[in-house]
Amino acid sequence: MRILIIGAGPTGLGAAYRLHELGHANFCVYEAQPYVGGLATSFLDERGFTWDFAVHVAHSHYHYVDNLMNALLPDGFYHHTRKSWVREYGAWIPYPFQYNVRHLPQVQRDECVKGLEALSQPSKGEIRNFKDWILATSGVGIAKHFMLPYNRKIWTVDPSEMNAHWIGDRVPATDLARVVRNIEEQRDDVSWGPNSTFQFPKEGGTGAIWNALASKLPENSVQLSRTLIALDTRSRTASFSDGSTDHYDHLISTIPLVKLTELVGSDDLHRRASGLRHSVVHVVGVAPHFPIPLELKDKTWIYTPEEICPFYRVTPFSIFSPAHTPDPNKFCSFLCEISREQGDTADTRSLVDPTLEGLRSIGLVDVNPDNAHFHLMRTDYGYPIPTLDRDKILNEVLPELEALNIRSRGRFGGWKYEVANMDHSIMQGVEAVNAILHGEPEVTLASPNLVNTGKR
Ligand SMILES: Cc1cc2nc3c(=O)[nH]c(=O)nc-3n(C[C@H](O)[C@H](O)[C@H](O)COP(=O)(O)OP(=O)(O)OC[C@H]3O[C@@H](n4cnc5c(N)ncnc54)[C@H](O)[C@@H]3O)c2cc1C
Repeated sequence: MRILIIGAGPTGLGAAYRLHELGHANFCVYEAQPYVGGLATSFLDERGFTWDFAVHVAHSHYHYVDNLMNALLPDGFYHHTRKSWVREYGAWIPYPFQYNVRHLPQVQRDECVKGLEALSQPSKGEIRNFKDWILATSGVGIAKHFMLPYNRKIWTVDPSEMNAHWIGDRVPATDLARVVRNIEEQRDDVSWGPNSTFQFPKEGGTGAIWNALASKLPENSVQLSRTLIALDTRSRTASFSDGSTDHYDHLISTIPLVKLTELVGSDDLHRRASGLRHSVVHVVGVAPHFPIPLELKDKTWIYTPEEICPFYRVTPFSIFSPAHTPDPNKFCSFLCEISREQGDTADTRSLVDPTLEGLRSIGLVDVNPDNAHFHLMRTDYGYPIPTLDRDKILNEVLPELEALNIRSRGRFGGWKYEVANMDHSIMQGVEAVNAILHGEPEVTLASPNLVNTGKR
């Protein structure tokens, strides 16, 4: 049985690793880029700085992934405690915002608490979308001062256009008693969430994981710079950009679902898949030629909901590993992530000045472009948006592809944000193989809430 895998990101490499582990040698991975890792790759620039495409925090819901990571990079990780913050109104509010509103100026803090108090009245409305969920679980104050502006900024659509059942462990709901207690006891409450501690490769950025994984696979089983350009689903033939073809019995595709349906050549499938929406993400990497400012030394990342700066999050990337700059006593580095609407065609270069202005205006760091250098990245596919009709589309399109022996999996193959992190992606690949070879059910894509509750 020949199995082809399209894409050498975490999902494709997870599938390939599982095939190899099970002793199934008849497979090949085809990747369009000249490198592995997909969105989770890392780049070493000509000045010796390492860059992730936005910070990648490796935390896992699966023992399989924990064991795999340790086998790939034994003694190769630093273990960090998340120290993330929200920066607005000139204040530093520890994340999760909801539990630490005591750090807000008085007026905003009172509005947040009032909104929560009003929630103790039984709610009459049903929860139709993410905005309703935010208002029903956080109250109008927290919604106004963080949840609505931040989510609008990162998702590029209004939260009322998003469904409410993707949330699971991705967004904290709020407990009034806990908020009031934190205010009274002047306590910071920061341990919520699955990524409160995480590991990061000591060298080579997140991409070191994927390079290590690829090196464990049989020689020639990963073909780089080979773009899938067409699929003949009758003869089960895949055609590639270099003119070559390959036959498959089963295909695991990790490319964006909407592109896959185009390559399959079904106008009807493609029309339906085109209802799925996504954001574009630009990343402005800023490397000032001075060491990390003292105030930012212990901040793993910072959420920035205010309009005043273009980015929704900034990460002092050089604190994740001293190997990220040629000399941490002389340099530091920041990753500034900017979301734009689907179809955005902006040149990332045009975002450098607004990014520097943003960093300055929120009082983070003042960078003179003559005393810094930049690494610019962008992806047309940044976040798969959980829109209201997303599940209806997926429930129609994915089974039709499966009837053609094509499993579309991964961040944009499966299009489910709630199971689109690296650990989920590896497991989507592993589970697709288990399903093809052994008929086992695929839990991650089918039951996100189940896999996101505890550790499997
Ligand atoms: C801004 C941002 C921040 C993130 N932060 C985190 C985080 O903190 N923690 C975390 O765990 N995850 C994070 N992620 C998610 C992580 O990047 C994904 O989980 C992971 O990359 C998904 O893997 P994948 O293989 O499904 O898709 P991808 O990584 O997108 O890989 C798909 C691959 O398919 C290739 N391809 C596309 N078209 C073709 C074609 N026609 N022919 C051949 N190959 C093709 C692409 O080049 C790519 O290599 C983040 C992602 C983004 C965008």
